[in-house]
Amino acid sequence: MTTTIETAKCATLTTVTQAYVFALDPTPEQANALRSHIGGTRFAYNALLGLVKANWDGVRAKKEAGEEVTREDYFGTYHLDHQRLWYQQRDEVAPWWSENGSSTYNYACLNLSKAFANFRAERARFPTFKKRGSSGSVSFLSKAVHLTDSHHVRVNRIGVLKTYESTRKLYRHLERGTGRIMAATVTQRGGKFIISFTVQVTKQFPAARAPQRIIGVDVGISTLYTGASTDGAQLLNVENPRHVFKAAKTLAHVQRVASRRHGPQPGIKPSNRWRKANSRVQKIHTSTANARKNQIHETTTMLAKNYDVIVIEDLNVKGLLKNHSLAKHISDAAWGKFSHQLEYKTKWYGSTLVKADRFYPSSKTCARCGTVKAKLSLIERTFACESCGHKADRDLNAAINLARLGLPGTSSGTGRGGEVRPEQQRLVATAHPDEASTEILTLVST
Ligand SMILES: [Zn+2]
Repeated sequence: MTTTIETAKCATLTTVTQAYVFALDPTPEQANALRSHIGGTRFAYNALLGLVKANWDGVRAKKEAGEEVTREDYFGTYHLDHQRLWYQQRDEVAPWWSENGSSTYNYACLNLSKAFANFRAERARFPTFKKRGSSGSVSFLSKAVHLTDSHHVRVNRIGVLKTYESTRKLYRHLERGTGRIMAATVTQRGGKFIISFTVQVTKQFPAARAPQRIIGVDVGISTLYTGASTDGAQLLNVENPRHVFKAAKTLAHVQRVASRRHGPQPGIKPSNRWRKANSRVQKIHTSTANARKNQIHETTTMLAKNYDVIVIEDLNVKGLLKNHSLAKHISDAAWGKFSHQLEYKTKWYGSTLVKADRFYPSSKTCARCGTVKAKLSLIERTFACESCGHKADRDLNAAINLARLGLPGTSSGTGRGGEVRPEQQRLVATAHPDEASTEILTLVST
């Protein structure tokens, strides 16, 4: 289905990397083959990690014993290093390796090199062994997967898999030549299999609309999204879903139950009672994740469709994730997705996304007189201005300030001339189709 665009004369052709996700309905044999590939990936990952660890320990012992050690003594941790090591060792550590397609092990090598890259960049701890369980994934090369029609995917070594949902949208892109599959990953979660395609899609996006309807959106913890217009009217109020917190309680209980049962240990199979409890845990994870995902999608679609300019904060997600409270964690994760979805959806619908600099004091600035407070702690839910006496809900006050950054005449690129207020020069990024014709972005569409 092509997007018929009224403003086609000034529309832009853009190539984006897009993800298409479908639930699979495998036969028992196919499910076994998928589990074998996923297990093979996990096995190779763990085996390689074990070899690297043993090598590093050995080199360290040599060093401590006063022997001379050079760089070459250490096993490398890049993709090619792992691949080389796997080719050398696979007959010994996994004589059954040929039962699965070779991309199984390549995927393990790639994942392990990524884990080491994250460790080197201090984004993650030292890689750990992957546990056996009801989750895991395996990736297939683009040439190993074909969509045979709008409900079937042929995967080399697995067979023709049925999908629950229609793959029509993706199928048409491939048929028309406007889409190219770059990779496909099958993930097992809670006994279910899903396939996600990374696809390069060439699309026509509408030109940006005139900035008439402007909304500023503040993302918070108790209220997830608060939206306001430039004149101070509240336009959006999305509460944090209660069911997520309710589910968190149930989850804690179910996890406790699972922890009392005999889980997987080296050489010991997990008990059936553990399996049952564990699958309940996975189910709750999946359903809350889906509920949250749907809510973010609904909100971002509504915003991108109905407003010409959407102004949000540009938060430092990496820094925020250091806070360990559950609510905080959920809202931060939601923020990342929210911002990311707005980036591509504004392109789809011809609206413009404006991100305020993360140092812009949207919460501390009085929406009536512009005075900036020196301090406003997170627990203060009401903004009270000392200069003009203005009182407002904290999130609403912030949203109004954000909305005003989207007014025409700012450095955001939305403007048609006019004054630039000093705080408005702090805008850092806009996502406008004209400026982003070759920009790659990833997104999930179900
Ligand atoms: Zn004031």
